[in-house]
Amino acid sequence: MTFVCKENCGKCCGPVPMTPAFISLNRDKIQNTNYTLTPAKFMKRVSGGREVYALTKNLECIFLTQEKKCAIYDIRPYVCRIYGVDKRLPCPFIDLEGKLREKPISELLDK
Ligand code: SF4
Ligand code: SF4
Repeated sequence: MTFVCKENCGKCCGPVPMTPAFISLNRDKIQNTNYTLTPAKFMKRVSGGREVYALTKNLECIFLTQEKKCAIYDIRPYVCRIYGVDKRLPCPFIDLEGKLREKPISELLDK
């Protein structure tokens, strides 16, 4: 069995860099989501061609909904997709083999 993110629980959502290319590629889908920064404002921010951290004022990803779900889960950036798959980015709930963890991730990180 391999790791599969089962929950879309938002617990691993922090500041992630997003590129102008990512926004351009997914513009239609992003415009259909309900988030706090409009695509026009976001595009203005990334128009310099640099990656940006798309954060709200309280430093959450702009795509994290009030229910703590990713509003663009199907098209989320690469770094969000490798969460839990890369051992340097362990999911707090599911291990690399796809099993629910028996111990809290904090115990693993202490080692
Ligand atoms: S990788 Fe883990 S923490 Fe992140 S959304 Fe999936 S289940 Fe939640
Ligand atoms: S794009 Fe989605 S999965 Fe990635 S940090 Fe933002 S809310 Fe979380």
